[in-house]
Amino acid sequence: MKIRIEFDKGTCIGNKACLAMDFKRWKDVGDKVNLIGGKEITKNIFYLEGNYSKEEIDTITEGAKVCPVNAIAVKNLETGEYIYGTEIITDHAEEVGAEYDDSKEFQLDKEGYFLIRVDEKNKNIEVGLCREPNKVSLKVTGKKPIDIYHMIINKKKLNIRKDHCAYLGRELQKAYIALKKGIKYVQDDELKF
Ligand code: SF4
Repeated sequence: MKIRIEFDKGTCIGNKACLAMDFKRWKDVGDKVNLIGGKEITKNIFYLEGNYSKEEIDTITEGAKVCPVNAIAVKNLETGEYIYGTEIITDHAEEVGAEYDDSKEFQLDKEGYFLIRVDEKNKNIEVGLCREPNKVSLKVTGKKPIDIYHMIINKKKLNIRKDHCAYLGRELQKAYIALKKGIKYVQDDELKF
């Protein structure tokens, strides 16, 4: 089947998820990827057209689906329809306003609580899980939030509440930004730019 891979390199944030899924189509070029053989049709927009087998198209489409910023689309040139498009469809979405009252709705996680700090000298983020007050039973050190939360949530297989996982992600990202920008990180406090 003839398809076209469309790549918005300007949107790409370079996390290489597409490359991990489909190494034949993507090349690591540092903070972004290149679409191998792609032609730039307008600034930062690349197209690659060709005939591919069903298996190849499945792999290409999987590579597009894992892109967190919708930088890759796959179009069937025989029907003119997108196999995987980048347009966000909201027609049937349920819409709700977000609200939460920490003073009434907060629930302690039975698994424990996290202490988070930054090691400015070594540019590390350190997370301690306390199952008893002030006693760290697990210490995880890393440079990137994704490494740390995968270690805690998936690899150590801790049974952490979903809202606590979200809290951990938020604080790790704040710590990461603080280290990058050279500003002070205080757990549970806003970053002061
Ligand atoms: S998955 Fe998307 S953002 Fe990540 S490198 Fe590939 S194109 Fe770029």
